[in-house]
Amino acid sequence: MSERTVVAPLERRARGGTLIVGGGFAGGYVARLLGRRGATIVSPENFMLYTPILPEAASGSLEPRHVVVPLRLMCPHAELLLGRGVGLDEKTRTVQVETDATVFSVGYEQLVVALGAVVRTLPIPGLAEHGVGFKTLADAIHLRNHVLRELEAADAELDPARAEPHLTFVFVGAGYAGVEALAELSDLVRDALRHYPRLRDRRQHWVLVDAAPKILPEIPTRLGHYAAQQLVERGTDIRVSTTLTSVDAEGVVLSDGAQIPTHTLVWTAGVRAHPLLAELGLPLDDRGRVRVDPTLRVEGRESVWALGDCARVPNEATPEHPDPPTCQHALRQARRLARNLQSLRRPYRYRMLGQVATLGRYQGIADVLGLRLRGFPGWFITRSYHLYQLPLFSRKLRVVVDWTVALFFRRDIAELGGLGHPQGLRAQR
Ligand SMILES: Cc1cc2nc3c(=O)[nH]c(=O)nc-3n(C[C@H](O)[C@H](O)[C@H](O)COP(=O)(O)OP(=O)(O)OC[C@H]3O[C@@H](n4cnc5c(N)ncnc54)[C@H](O)[C@@H]3O)c2cc1C
Repeated sequence: MSERTVVAPLERRARGGTLIVGGGFAGGYVARLLGRRGATIVSPENFMLYTPILPEAASGSLEPRHVVVPLRLMCPHAELLLGRGVGLDEKTRTVQVETDATVFSVGYEQLVVALGAVVRTLPIPGLAEHGVGFKTLADAIHLRNHVLRELEAADAELDPARAEPHLTFVFVGAGYAGVEALAELSDLVRDALRHYPRLRDRRQHWVLVDAAPKILPEIPTRLGHYAAQQLVERGTDIRVSTTLTSVDAEGVVLSDGAQIPTHTLVWTAGVRAHPLLAELGLPLDDRGRVRVDPTLRVEGRESVWALGDCARVPNEATPEHPDPPTCQHALRQARRLARNLQSLRRPYRYRMLGQVATLGRYQGIADVLGLRLRGFPGWFITRSYHLYQLPLFSRKLRVVVDWTVALFFRRDIAELGGLGHPQGLRAQR
């Protein structure tokens, strides 16, 4: 491939005058809701990831391709530029975009910053080298393949003591992502072990670690207790008020002194502001998020807006605190912002209707309009809610088909870690 060339700014203008940087939940929905007015989206991927069902892609209940929605289908009137926003010049009203081959400028009349957040890591010895995140589709696919490879490695070991680290899985961070991912993957392992007769009697060790005094701090205490109880009944070792001290290729050390031999450390301990925000010259809060006024316009700016995880969004319905980083808030912010871009500017206001989470097959928790459900009803409500929210009828149908197939057939346990990494012709010798 040719070296990347820097091209003098071209006369590229955003469609309909609106440029959206970031095609995730917030940016994707703004573009969709702008409809025929059109917009230009800059995004490194050509799809929006529907994160709440990402754990099911990791466990194989859903085809990975079905948890993403192609932006060109979701926003048929928008133009997509596959690349990354790398700079902003407010004087000339242009954003610099970097693609695999070039860097160019795109002019805008209205700019929407929807960069999301990035995984928050800490300077813990070995974390960067040995931990895996759980935020992207690639992370989910990697984790699934890694777990299946660990089962193969355990099966190949004759010495039970040497097999144990392969059957030990440590998750750090007990928010939605960590709890749902652990629950789904432990279901995958339980089902897969039917095909590994030698491993049936071997102990699996699932460990959930969090610095906070309880898991799922976002949800009502009673449901949080239920979730913890469910995980414990399945044999999960929950260690709250505990942190990760170090990790290496052989295992982890925790702040309570435990040394756990393992080859799997999943890090889901929160997110932090996107690093590009610090370079854009926009007003930021103490956590590095863009400050916006109640209409979602960036403070002190006429034509720059921000929303989603990258912004500190004040909510008229909850004046005591800004919005938390969730899909349901990003979606409601997108609705308000799309309207504010087109007509009279009104303040954003959204009262949360509830919270839902799955805990593996047939188990879930839901707190909807004050009604608290757990077990199968909680699981059913959670799935129904996500199905309703998922954009595009074709996507909903694919997901329903996957879920239906999963009811009647055993899980697929093929390990496809080599996918996307062809050996090349030289390796054929
Ligand atoms: C595993 C997981 C499970 C979750 N489960 C739930 C749940 O059950 N319920 C819930 O409400 N919330 C959940 N969340 C949180 C939810 O996903 C986020 O709050 C939501 O995605 C925020 O939307 P966003 O558009 O701000 O960010 P994102 O959806 O992350 O989108 C940001 C986009 O910006 C793009 N981008 C990054 N850098 C650049 C750049 N330089 N230029 C252009 N584009 C760029 C990214 O590729 C991405 O597409 C979960 C999150 C994770 C990771």
